[in-house]
Amino acid sequence: MEQMRECNSEERATAGNPVLILAFHALEEKGDVLSYPPSLLGEAVQRLLDAGWEAVTVSGGAARLRSGTPVGRRLFAVSFDDGYRSVWDEGFPVLERLGVPATVFINGRPDVSGALSPMEGRTRMTAAHIHAWAAAGGEVGAHTITHPDLTLLTQAALHQEMAESKSALEEITGAAVTSFAYPFGFHDARVRAAARQHFQCACSTEQGIAGPGSDLYSLARIEMADFRDRARLRLLSGPWLGAWLALLAGPRWLSQRRLRRRVRAEAEAQG
Ligand SMILES: [Zn+2]
Repeated sequence: MEQMRECNSEERATAGNPVLILAFHALEEKGDVLSYPPSLLGEAVQRLLDAGWEAVTVSGGAARLRSGTPVGRRLFAVSFDDGYRSVWDEGFPVLERLGVPATVFINGRPDVSGALSPMEGRTRMTAAHIHAWAAAGGEVGAHTITHPDLTLLTQAALHQEMAESKSALEEITGAAVTSFAYPFGFHDARVRAAARQHFQCACSTEQGIAGPGSDLYSLARIEMADFRDRARLRLLSGPWLGAWLALLAGPRWLSQRRLRRRVRAEAEAQG
C-alpha cells in the first residue's frame, strides 16, 4: 500500500463526477478469473444506462475529471485488458448495439499475419479488429509491448515499453493513443511519472470508483470478475456499491500480493 502514499508523480482530479470504470478481460463462460460471461456484459451495461448513467471512454472520463466540469450525470466506462479475440467477437456487437464506446487496452504488436500473439491460452485481436474498434468510435489504449511488471524495469526499458506500445497502436488506428493500463495493475511513483510523459491517464487494478480526488495516473476500476452474477450486478448501479467495494478490497489486496509473487518468480526464472 506504500505506493498509494507517494505523491510526487500524481495529478489529482479537482472536481467533476465519479466515473465507474468497469474492468474486463476475456468474454467467455469459462469461469476463471480472466473470463466474464458474454451474456452478462449487455445486462451490466444496460442496467447502468437504465439507471441514467452516461457511457464514456476511459480517456473521455479522465478528461471530464481533469476539467472538473460537473455534468450532472454519473459516468461509466467499459474497459478490456489484453485485447482477447472474444472481446471483438462477443463484446463489440453488444456495445455497438447499445451505443457504448468502450476502451480496449492492447499489449504487444501484431505479427506479420496481422494477429497479436495468443496470451493465457487465448487468441487475441488482429490489427484489422483494432483498426475497426477505433474507426467505430471505440478507444484503443496502450498496455505495453511485453506485459512486464513495470516496477522491475530500468528507466530506459520502462519508457520503451510505453512509447513503443503507443506508437504501434497509433500506426494501426491512425489516432492518438492517450490512455494506458499498467500490466497486472503494478505501478509505483516512478512508473506513474513515466506514464505521465506518454499518456493523459492510466488505469490501475485497484478496486474502486474514480472521481474527484483521484490520481489520473492511478485510476481505480471495478473488477467485473467480482460481479459475475445477477444478484451482484444489481449492486453496480445501487447505493451499496461503495460499501461492497470496501468489503472486496481486503481479499483483492491479498490476491494482488500473490499475483505479484508469481510474476516476480516467473521473471526471475526467465533471467
Ligand atoms: Zn494485462
